Amino acid sequence: MPDTAANSWEARAEAATFYGFTDLPSIHARGTVVLTHGEGPYIVDTHGRRYLDANSGLWNMVAGFDHAGLAAAAKAQYDRFPGYHAFFGRMSDQTVMLSEKLVEVSPFDRGRVFYTNSGSEANDTLAKMLWFLAGAEGAPERRKILTRVNSYHGVTAVSASMTGKPYNALFGLPLPGFVHLTCPHYWREGRPGETEGEFTARLAAELEEVIAREGAETIAGFFAEPVMGAGGVIPPSAGYFQAIQPILKRHGIPLVADEVICGFGRTGEVWGCETYGFVPDAIISSKALTAGYFPMGAVILGSDLADRLHAAAEAVEEFPHGFTASGHPVGCAIALKAIDVILNEGLLDNVRAMTPRFEAGMQRLAEHPHIGEWRGKGLMGALEAVADKATKTPFPSDLSVSERIANTCTDHGLICRPLGQSIVLCPPFILTEAQMDEMFDKLEAALTRVFAEIGAG
Ligand code: PMP
Repeated sequence: MPDTAANSWEARAEAATFYGFTDLPSIHARGTVVLTHGEGPYIVDTHGRRYLDANSGLWNMVAGFDHAGLAAAAKAQYDRFPGYHAFFGRMSDQTVMLSEKLVEVSPFDRGRVFYTNSGSEANDTLAKMLWFLAGAEGAPERRKILTRVNSYHGVTAVSASMTGKPYNALFGLPLPGFVHLTCPHYWREGRPGETEGEFTARLAAELEEVIAREGAETIAGFFAEPVMGAGGVIPPSAGYFQAIQPILKRHGIPLVADEVICGFGRTGEVWGCETYGFVPDAIISSKALTAGYFPMGAVILGSDLADRLHAAAEAVEEFPHGFTASGHPVGCAIALKAIDVILNEGLLDNVRAMTPRFEAGMQRLAEHPHIGEWRGKGLMGALEAVADKATKTPFPSDLSVSERIANTCTDHGLICRPLGQSIVLCPPFILTEAQMDEMFDKLEAALTRVFAEIGAG
């Protein structure tokens, strides 16, 4: 129960904060978890309670919550040069080094990087880049953006329009010109009797139809997460990117990999596109880019888009876009350190080493009669609760099954996230075997308890 004393942290949080993405009645009943610090993959609240954060904050705190090297890199850069922009032909040396590093670790032989403060802004920025390019190349009608139902690309007006979630209707979004295709989730979207290969072929045919209907000359780009994250951890159906990329190429439509979640190791490779065997035309990065130690996003343009955009900008002298903190020296210094920590200090190796144990844990919980499916890749996964496993019928939404499971976990010192009727796990890359076992044991206890409570044991 929340501490309701007027001066409690819980009451103060509620009195002075406008909450986003928070179930307000539930938080009013349960109280806000107000945090003071972290220890490895654990977070600690104002009452001294420790929670294993199986969501890495919001997928981003991949090096845990007390990485001395990242804090030291930040401090050193604050002492040296605490802030600057990247306008007017000036930028910090850290910004230059990070751009070189991002192109080096990208799947592109050459490229260019543009910086933002978030993943949403990076998606907005790339959409504006594609629109700018369309204008410069004499094709101003080339403005539509294709994405998928259930995708998540952010909350700014453009990235929210890309996002395929129903709640955006509350804002009168999407804006015109955003087209959402079928979510490549075979288990949910596959038709009776349809094989996974046939499902993928149907989605490719749908893409052809949409391009024909809308007109290829009106489409600026196709944005896709390699694994859909906030849609409920949905890996693509087999062969999906291999099926759609040739179609996009044939019509001259750039394929953008939104790697905000997958990028920098989550799927077991540096990029999700590497895991799924395709090279996009541009990459959107954020989150693990700084291991969550600084708000930063990046648009990494492959050589073709980089060359065309550079030429377009030169023709009118400048690309009139940028944020005050684009390429912030402290953010760039932290990102350089985070990339080094992930690639050279064993974090990516640990993702690979721990993946079989993660899959085994998910598999074990998926045997429960009310878990319909587990899905995931690398160190990200979801367990979907169902009332009936054979028919995949969901529980009535008023039972709030996934919220109850997540709340029970929180009460027992484990943070995991309800998404629809699924529970999402995406632990920090530093997780040990013992901590992974703790995660699955606590989640299993919560599942058992909640299913018993609702009479579905
Ligand atoms: N793209 C993807 C795939 C994401 O998961 C997110 C955030 N969860 C975003 C974009 C938006 O990033 P931000 O919250 O930093 O704006």
